Amino acid sequence: MERINLFKTFLNKQQMSVTQERLEIARIAAGFKEHFFTAEDIFAATGRNSFIIAKSTVYRNMKLLRSAGLIEPVLTSDRNKNLYRNIIPEKVTCRICCLDCGFEASFNDDKFEEQVLDVCEKYEVEKYGVMVRIEGRKRFPHVHKEDKHYADTER
Ligand SMILES: [Zn+2]
Repeated sequence: MERINLFKTFLNKQQMSVTQERLEIARIAAGFKEHFFTAEDIFAATGRNSFIIAKSTVYRNMKLLRSAGLIEPVLTSDRNKNLYRNIIPEKVTCRICCLDCGFEASFNDDKFEEQVLDVCEKYEVEKYGVMVRIEGRKRFPHVHKEDKHYADTER
């Protein structure tokens, strides 16, 4: 699986050990695909296979998955809920956010990706989990609604 290999490469580059726990957490996270998930969701899914992973290990590894460019936090109005989503490393992900109502949407656009890759080339940067974030204010008439977005994308 491509995402697991990316995570292994990241761990190696960081000179961190590639443990079964880390790979299992990465596998579970990848399994959520485009759905939002929390560290608790990951923890709840552990132990289905042969071994149990401590909750603290799951939380620590969420940070690693973020650093590896595999997941990203999803901003929500609920400050108690730390939602994450998978970044698709093969693609440049564009995210557009309405600062007024908190609505967020992600999209991939080939033309846009091409231009981002040109920029990477120009600055001699190897593309790895590129995410472009566009922030804007509402336009009238304003129709964004955060709750609708979540209803569409949540499991
Ligand atoms: Zn809005």
